[in-house]
Formats: sequence, C-alpha cells, structure tokens
Amino acid sequence: PLTTTDLIEEHRICVCVRKRPLNKKELTVKDLDVITIPSKDVVMVHEPKQKVDLTRYLENQTFRFDYAFDDSTTNEMVYRFTARPLVETIFDRGMATCFAYGQTGSGKTHSFSFKQTHSCACFTQTARDVFLMLKKPNYKKLDLQVYATFFEIYSGKVFDLLNRKAKLRVLEDGKQQVQVVGLQECEVRCTEDVLKLIEIGNSCRTSGQTSANAHSSRSHAVFQIILRRKGKMHGKFSLIDLAGNERGADTSSADRQTRLEGAEINKSLLALKECIRALGRNKPHTPFRASKLTQVLRDSFIGENSRTCMIATISPGMASCENTLNTLRYSIRWL
Ligand code: ADP
Ligand code: MG
Repeated sequence: PLTTTDLIEEHRICVCVRKRPLNKKELTVKDLDVITIPSKDVVMVHEPKQKVDLTRYLENQTFRFDYAFDDSTTNEMVYRFTARPLVETIFDRGMATCFAYGQTGSGKTHSFSFKQTHSCACFTQTARDVFLMLKKPNYKKLDLQVYATFFEIYSGKVFDLLNRKAKLRVLEDGKQQVQVVGLQECEVRCTEDVLKLIEIGNSCRTSGQTSANAHSSRSHAVFQIILRRKGKMHGKFSLIDLAGNERGADTSSADRQTRLEGAEINKSLLALKECIRALGRNKPHTPFRASKLTQVLRDSFIGENSRTCMIATISPGMASCENTLNTLRYSIRWL
C-alpha cells in the first residue's frame, strides 16, 4: 500500500487513477471485476479472475501512471496524494488545478465529495489546509484574503452557481487575459464558509433537474479558491469535476440536444488534452480557444508556477470496460 513517503513533490503534471469497488447494482447483475492494481502506479485490465462463459475476450492491458489507487483507498489518502501537494503552490504565487475525469458513476464527485460535507471531503481538506497555511508566519505577513467561486460549464456556456445560475460572458482582452464577466467571488474566512458555498452551489446546480446525476454528467463544475493580496490575485486553486466522458457517444443520438451536448463535451475534453500535452512539452502554441473550458482555465495553465493533477476514476466491472479503457487511454496521454 501507499505511504506518504511515496509522495513525489516535484511534479508539474501528475496523473492518477482511482478504481472504485463494484457497487450493489453491479453485484446484483453479477458483473465481474476486470481491474487490478498490482503496484502503486500500475493499472491492469484483464479477464475476470472467476471462471465465466466469456461473452467477450479481454486482452491483458497494463498502464502506468504516477499513482494508482485501488478500491480500498480512502478519500483522505487520495487527497493527500493529489490536491494536497498543490496547496503550497497557490501561496507561492502559483496556479493549481485538480481534475476529476471519468465515466458517469465511476467516482468523480465521490473523490471530490462535492456532495458530502464531512471532514475528509476534498474541499473540506483543501479549505482547511489553506486556512492552516495562512496562519504560518511567512504567509501571515502577506496579509492575504481568500475568495471562492463556483460555476459550471454546460453546452459551452458558463453559469454562476453562487448567483442563481446567472449566465456569464467570457471576454478576452488584447493581452490574452480571460475574464468571466460578473463571476461572484465570495470572501471566505474559515472552512465552514467554504462548505456553505459548496452547499449553495450544489443546490443551485441541480435545481429544476429531474436527476442530479443526469445533469452533472453533462456539465463541468469548477470550484476555485483564490488568494488575493491588496486586491491583486496571488494564487488560485481550481477543483474541476468534469462531465462524464461517455457522453462522447451521444454524438450519434437521435435527439438533437443530446447530440449537441455530446459534441460539446467531446470538444472540450479533447481541447483539454491538447492543452495539457502542449504545456507538458513546452510548446509555444497552446489551443486554449478550442473550448470554453480551456479558455476559462487559460490563466491556470500558463505562468511558470502552475501545477496540475488529474484523478482518472474507473469502474471495475466488465460491463464498463470499454469506457474504462477510454479513460485510461485518454489519461495516459497527459503524461
Ligand atoms: P460520478 O461523479 O463519476 O458520476 P459518483 O462520484 O457520483 O460518480 O459515484 C457514483 C456512486 O458510486 C456514488 O454512490 C458513490 O458514493 C459511489 N462511489 C464512487 N466511488 C467510490 C469509492 N471509491 N468507494 C465507494 N463508493 C464509491
Ligand atoms: Mg458526478
């Protein structure tokens, strides 16, 4: 198992995979586990260990990431290896970004705990560590203020979750600075303040929706903690719960709206991969404008002190293996 001494500190881009346990529904239909994490950075997709009449043949496939978390890993442990190492970055005038990527139902929201507000939720821990850090003498003297924003990107449009889902415009000035016009930045003074905002944003996000999960699978949710010094931005931490990546298949749906949504999600996830790859290779041209998601995140990626982490979440079942392989192949390209 992973220990904290396994932590690699010097990573500009860190990509992890997290496998969830088989859920009740999968157990009921006797879906079988086809994922093994043989060591702390390897994921294997293989035939199920149990003898079955195979309806499909799975070739053994092995993928190596920065970290691989098996289904017994707690949220707290995932936090310690993913978002936690990025907290320091924003105090050192940097940008930190943490993504959850994967098929709907694979554990993105669970990993961030957008819905839960208990003590081990990623938000709670991030907020707690930010406020702890703020008290350290060398940061205390900077007199930093902490703000939070919470918005979603749905079908290429930005909606403010802290302001009754107001639709916002994204503007780019001549110097390629991107601004989400009118985005609410709420000052937060303690962890509880952050949790309150998460709750407000969540209820706003799903209001008027028939199913919370159906909506979240079609939109990207972005929560940010911003440090300001004398009004000027000092650092920014973004936690992004991405739309379900299986939505790309919707591009062949009979319903026009579903088709458009699927195409938009495809476009943004592809643009995200292209941007990350360009950054990882220090390429001069990064295609931020290719989607609203990457356009809005532009300032988080550029700059010398920017760090990114991705948690790719996967379902263990054979029934999900197509989506799982897609997730693994997409994420491996980030490295
Ligand atoms: P997503 O946001 O990717 O659509 P969720 O995070 O909502 O998926 O997870 C779907 C369900 O599976 C939830 O009920 C969640 O509690 C459960 N789940 C996800 N990951 C885990 C895990 N690692 N351990 C236990 N339960 C999990
Ligand atoms: Mg979700």
